[in-house]
Amino acid sequence: MFKTLYAKLAAVLLGLFCLIGVFYVLLTLFTTQMHLQEVNQKLNRTLAEHLVSKNILMTEGRINEAVLKDIFHMLMVINPSIEIYLLDSSGRILAFSAPPGKVKRQEVSLEPIRRFLNKNATLPILGDDPRDVSRKKIFSVCPIPVTGPVEGYLYVILSGEEYDSVAQMLQGSYILRLSTGVVIGGLLFALLAGLVLFNLLTRRLRRLASTMEAFKQSDFSEPLKQSVHDKGRFGDEIDRLGETFNQMTDRIVLQMTKLKETDALRRELVANVSHDLRTPLASLQGYLETLLLKEGTLTPKEHRNYLEVATKHSERLGRLVSELFELAKLDSHETQPHVEPFSLSELVQDVVQKFRLAAEKKKIRLRAELRKDLPFISADIGLIERVLENLIENALRYTPERGAITLALVLNNDRVKIQVADTGCGIPEEELPYIFDRFYRVEKHERSDGAGLGLAIAKRILELHGSSIEASSVVNNGSTFTFHLPVSR
Ligand code: ADP
Repeated sequence: MFKTLYAKLAAVLLGLFCLIGVFYVLLTLFTTQMHLQEVNQKLNRTLAEHLVSKNILMTEGRINEAVLKDIFHMLMVINPSIEIYLLDSSGRILAFSAPPGKVKRQEVSLEPIRRFLNKNATLPILGDDPRDVSRKKIFSVCPIPVTGPVEGYLYVILSGEEYDSVAQMLQGSYILRLSTGVVIGGLLFALLAGLVLFNLLTRRLRRLASTMEAFKQSDFSEPLKQSVHDKGRFGDEIDRLGETFNQMTDRIVLQMTKLKETDALRRELVANVSHDLRTPLASLQGYLETLLLKEGTLTPKEHRNYLEVATKHSERLGRLVSELFELAKLDSHETQPHVEPFSLSELVQDVVQKFRLAAEKKKIRLRAELRKDLPFISADIGLIERVLENLIENALRYTPERGAITLALVLNNDRVKIQVADTGCGIPEEELPYIFDRFYRVEKHERSDGAGLGLAIAKRILELHGSSIEASSVVNNGSTFTFHLPVSR
């Protein structure tokens, strides 16, 4: 029933206002009664004294019956709500003005009487009601005689108008009715205003809750169609909650997308890896089995030929496994670049030297354009060497005889631009965006020994250095790979 926050708040507010209303009515009843009693007792304070001083009610301890009767009669006519009791000095009731059987007490307490007789006492003072053992009433009292030793008391109960219920009291007083009406009206207005306000405040919470629900239904994969705090901004806790939720959903959606992509990539990778491992492995196995089967029947030349092919396949297999392992290590952050300042010119010269023989074999001109005053750069020397090797290996692989490969280093503000350019077969423009993907190989190119991981490794290494690599190419004209590294400070 009270599932929504609004319903709960409304119920609490209603309960609170009812409580305030009841409290107000009870308080009014109590204070009004006290006020009436105070006024009544103050007005009639000297009534008993007046009666005692004007009439001789007792002489030497005996009641003056005739005088008493006259007084009873007179007061009954003037004010029937007044009750008169004649008490002895200990408070015992000697005579009264009520019909027989009405009086329930034998005596009344003297303590309130003494308090009343003290002129400084604050009124109202309530004394025992002889007609009801459980009730107290206002009174006027006077010792008999007024001065001298006390023989008894004239005890006058000033019943006046008394209200037993709220309704009775309201009926009796126009002012009370009016003020109660005003208070109830005020409470109702405040309740209404409170409900409207709560509705306004909880509306944003309701919207937030329904957006969260919708996001949950979408399996946490769909971004929020509408920002939680699109309508109105208050900068309060609800807005902050909405903002945090927005950021959270963005993050979750991003992570989910990444997770899905990674999962798809992993599947593809496993498929590619198994395919790429199976092919050379099957060939290797085939050649070795043939060697075993035809043992003795093969000429030494054929024998050597078979062994050479098998070795080539096993080399390819080994390279593939080590490349995969290298990439996995780079991905898992196991390999962290050990950044240090070093001379890039020297590194380039070393790498060029390493490939010189292979280049000469293919009659390719491999050269480095270096500047003597190039500053040191900050990077992991081993990993950058790997990048250069991969790029030169590719250039050598895809450049025909009599071509040229040029490595150029250019200082560009606080970075050094490194370019590896060749005059090879080039890469079709539409394939350029994919060549850095794992296992990607350009269809038209002759099948090489590579597994399509060289550029992916280079890209990952540069990513770990906070850099990137770009490729530009013109088919049958050549390709250029460019990346930047920071100058050491
Ligand atoms: P692979 O080991 O097959 O060379 P890479 O990741 O190094 O794998 O390169 C991906 C693909 O990009 C290659 O298969 C090749 O088709 C193309 N490629 C890379 N470098 C060059 C280049 N210098 N010239 C032409 N094509 C290239």
